[in-house]
Amino acid sequence: MARGASLTKRRISIFGATGSIGQNTIDLVRRAPDMFHTVALTGAGNVELLASDARELCAEIVVTADPQKYQDLKDLLAGSDIEVAAGHAGLIEAANRPADWVMSAIVGAAGLAPGIEALRQGATLALANKETLVCAGKLVLETAKSHAAQLLPVDSEHSAVFQALIGEDIRAVERVIITASGGAFRDWPLERLADATPEQAACHPNWDMGQRITIDSASMFNKALELIETHEFFPVTPEQIEVLVHPESLIHAMVGFRDGGIIAHVGPPDMRHAIGFALNYPERADLPVDRLDLAALGQFSFHAPDEKRWPALRMAREVMERGGLSGAVFNAAKETALDGFLQRKIGFLGMAEVVETVLSDEKAIDGLIDAQMTLDNVYEADHLARQAANVAITKLAAG
Ligand code: NDP
Repeated sequence: MARGASLTKRRISIFGATGSIGQNTIDLVRRAPDMFHTVALTGAGNVELLASDARELCAEIVVTADPQKYQDLKDLLAGSDIEVAAGHAGLIEAANRPADWVMSAIVGAAGLAPGIEALRQGATLALANKETLVCAGKLVLETAKSHAAQLLPVDSEHSAVFQALIGEDIRAVERVIITASGGAFRDWPLERLADATPEQAACHPNWDMGQRITIDSASMFNKALELIETHEFFPVTPEQIEVLVHPESLIHAMVGFRDGGIIAHVGPPDMRHAIGFALNYPERADLPVDRLDLAALGQFSFHAPDEKRWPALRMAREVMERGGLSGAVFNAAKETALDGFLQRKIGFLGMAEVVETVLSDEKAIDGLIDAQMTLDNVYEADHLARQAANVAITKLAAG
């Protein structure tokens, strides 16, 4: 980041600072000490890392989402004047601290409320947490609009679409293509998938990411969330969005226009590109990512996704068609099914079965899918879907 130091430092907060996206964000911030003032850092279990980063970046406030870790965090920061808070209230307090730019990188639906709170105070929200738009897209977009706050995508596919659309008229867009690596089991025969373990699913061929998103990549639930996120973020219909398997993970997305041309975004599989783009937007800064040697690379390959292998993609299309709170239900069922897989209660293929069961069980979610989109209703739908998913897991585990 060789940009000149600004006279006024930008005030930034990082939610999910101890995770994979959070640490990549801190890496960029660390390289530009003259540009940024750190307002808040948040984490959950890893209070040692949280405390050491908070000291290094001189944060105003740190929050652990886990109230049981509060005292540990306080002890680790003894002697500093950094404020310490914990739990949901602590996260909301941190999100209320005036900031120019906030990274939303908590994993799962837990990232929703702090993100909305940051938008309410008018901050630019850099959205890595895809669950925010999947669970409550309409509410989030309305909140951003009514508080004149900007949303910037951080997911590499959405950042790529955003970049391909700069200077373009959205009415000229015919289709948006987001790519998928295919995850850990791309080349496994279908019959082996039933026995896949969490350890095998957590080995991504190209990206170094958190455990949950890596397993979601193997099941394509991650891509399913991204399909919904694309539909929420950009004014395109579900039919205009395509998924393409691209094993090299170098083209992150493409936008096809009505004149037949396609603009593709190509970049290394390093999240610091998309994070750095959002951090420096609307400028572009030097970023410490590999420069691609396209001649050495030789070729890009693509193929259509197989929906038998990845039923999550079909379910995402149903969710987009259904709208309302079905995204919240889908995500909560998916998160619970992933827990069931991690705890070895169900197998890899069982995750899709559980989510499918919850989506089709109107009674279990008490007709909430079509309820008005308020934060309370989103949480209620999330809660009921988790309950229904746990019932489905128990049934599946009992055979
Ligand atoms: P990680 O699991 O690596 O990090 C998650 C962060 O959230 C950690 O700081 C963790 O704290 C914190 N956290 C965990 N549970 C809670 C909770 N209940 N409440 C508050 N904070 C919590 O995740 P990633 O960085 O991989 O992903 C973060 C988000 O970004 C996800 O939504 C993911 O889908 C998205 N994303 C990630 C990409 C990647 O490359 N990793 C790419 C694109 C999007 P602690 O570690 O201290 O317990």
